[in-house]
Amino acid sequence: ERRPLIAGNWKMNGLRADARRLAVEIGTLRQFKPDAAFDLLVCPPFTVLEAVSQMIENTGVYLGAQTCHVAEKGAHTGDISAAMVADSGCSHVILGHSERRTNHAETNDQVNAQAKAAHEQSLIAIICVGETEAERESGKALEVVAEQVKASVPDDSSYGNTVIAYEPVWAIGTGKVATPDDVQEVHANIRKVLAEKLGQEEADGIRILYGGSMKPENAKELLALGDVDGGLIGGASLKAEDFWAIAQSC
Ligand code: 13P
Repeated sequence: ERRPLIAGNWKMNGLRADARRLAVEIGTLRQFKPDAAFDLLVCPPFTVLEAVSQMIENTGVYLGAQTCHVAEKGAHTGDISAAMVADSGCSHVILGHSERRTNHAETNDQVNAQAKAAHEQSLIAIICVGETEAERESGKALEVVAEQVKASVPDDSSYGNTVIAYEPVWAIGTGKVATPDDVQEVHANIRKVLAEKLGQEEADGIRILYGGSMKPENAKELLALGDVDGGLIGGASLKAEDFWAIAQSC
């Protein structure tokens, strides 16, 4: 039985005052319903991790970062290590988001090494994969995503330390959502690839999230799919009531 995970990726949004307010609102909603059958995670920018961590203390809301460096420490100006992420109160870290792959040229190999670094710090790695519009149109979506999973997911992965997020690039921030049939097809295939790589037991336990224009209006249909175990939410995670409404759709 996979417990749904509803994760908010705040991306590069949130000055301290706004971040504190949003975190308090989400924490309050959670406290109001502490035994709801889903996990809640917020992933703010590095600069407000500490502030958000204080605001969600004892609410049961998990904290995550949006990337980490492969090295534990050293001469990497501007980078943040997995040890630092863990030290900031995080239990999770998003890795290989398409915006990182595009804007920072992150490769599958790098994402794999980042995930290993995260695992060494007992962080749960949320490894993102997803095809571009051109890849979907040329019928290559399944193949591209399978290749990303094979290469980005380290061999030491288990359902305890790894979550996969399927985010079709063309659905991120566009208001376009993949059809339920397409989402289920990709998710089932990801699980198949995970089974080949890690064994059936791990594959059956690993949560696979959908991301890309998830909103309160479409969440129920997507979250009801057999191999969809939660959501990675961008825009709609910046409003506590929308984020909560999505979670309530589990
Ligand atoms: P949107 O929900 O804004 O489409 O973003 C999805 C995403 O990239 C989450 O990581």
